[in-house]
Amino acid sequence: MVDGRQGVRVVVDGAEVTSFASNDYLGLAGDDRLAHAAIEAIEHGGTGVGASRLIVGNHRAHVELEAAVMDWLGVDGVRLFNSGYAANTGVLTTLLREGDVVFSDELNHASIVDGCRLSRATIAIYRHRDLADLERAMKQHGGRRRIVVSETVFSMDGDVVDVEALAAVTKRSGASLILDEAHAMGVLGIEGRGVAAACRDVDVVIGTFGKALGSFGAFAATTKAIAELLWNRARSLVFSTGLPPSVAAASKRAIEIVRSAEGDERRAKLSAITRQFRAQVPRAGGSANVPIASWVIGDDRGVEEIGRALLREGLLVASVRPPTVPVGTARLRISFSAGHEPSEIEDLTTITQRVIYG
Ligand SMILES: *Cc1c(COP(=O)(O)O)cnc(C)c1O
Repeated sequence: MVDGRQGVRVVVDGAEVTSFASNDYLGLAGDDRLAHAAIEAIEHGGTGVGASRLIVGNHRAHVELEAAVMDWLGVDGVRLFNSGYAANTGVLTTLLREGDVVFSDELNHASIVDGCRLSRATIAIYRHRDLADLERAMKQHGGRRRIVVSETVFSMDGDVVDVEALAAVTKRSGASLILDEAHAMGVLGIEGRGVAAACRDVDVVIGTFGKALGSFGAFAATTKAIAELLWNRARSLVFSTGLPPSVAAASKRAIEIVRSAEGDERRAKLSAITRQFRAQVPRAGGSANVPIASWVIGDDRGVEEIGRALLREGLLVASVRPPTVPVGTARLRISFSAGHEPSEIEDLTTITQRVIYG
């Protein structure tokens, strides 16, 4: 159980520890400016909107946040969702139906898996980031409508898809492309726009405010027409109360910071910390600039014991077991923050090596 604010130093079960477990990559979740934006919005707009946005819950704070995302990512349509989970299920069930085919990377997030299942489309799983296998699957499956769906930065391995290549394969076969940028938004790309915004052949980009943006809620960035369709059809949006204005206001403040020179500085610090770790622990996988490393232990039960031993040493690291990751690949998932200091990375690697290898 956590007390107080999120940050590099966090109080867990009454003891302060150094956290390498959060997705708060830029250190914004505990930022005073986001807190103050939320407080101001609560004083102005209260704590809840009382209904779905389609009934009477459509608040100015929602509309302003959608406009801020459109401006940030340079798209014509944005639709807010109450979480990334709700965004994936809402988007996939809106765009797919029985008789359609969805091509899904085998390591896609549970919210994508659930969205595919709920849609009743035929699901064709392709091997992780394997475009040849995707092409093979696309030759095999016809269908009224065909959609490819993938994360860009994978949440457990920290590896990244080649967006341009994936978009080219998708386009060649006349399919649409949905990319989930949950771990890329705020972290990668110009102004932290992620890795998909620059590619014209992506139909929908999913982003969350709950990770690097330090807030809560999510969005689909797309065309005006699809945003309109989502407004009318996405069940996780239509049949759910709108986000509190305070949450939307905090997200909007986060976008301002992410886009600013300070955002660039935070991304540079994060990248330096991440590179330091990868230099010290080459076996921890992941892409150079992605602040996620996975230290595979293999022993699906032993990994929890290692996690507890690290916590006793004051280090909070996520131990991840199947079914979150494939059997036999239990691991420590280590994530970094712009707020980490080089000395904390030194301690992390020394202590973890001692705990695992004795
Ligand atoms: C975390 C995550 C989500 C869910 O986002 P929330 O806003 O936390 O519901 C969706 N997709 C991916 C890839 C994620 O890592």
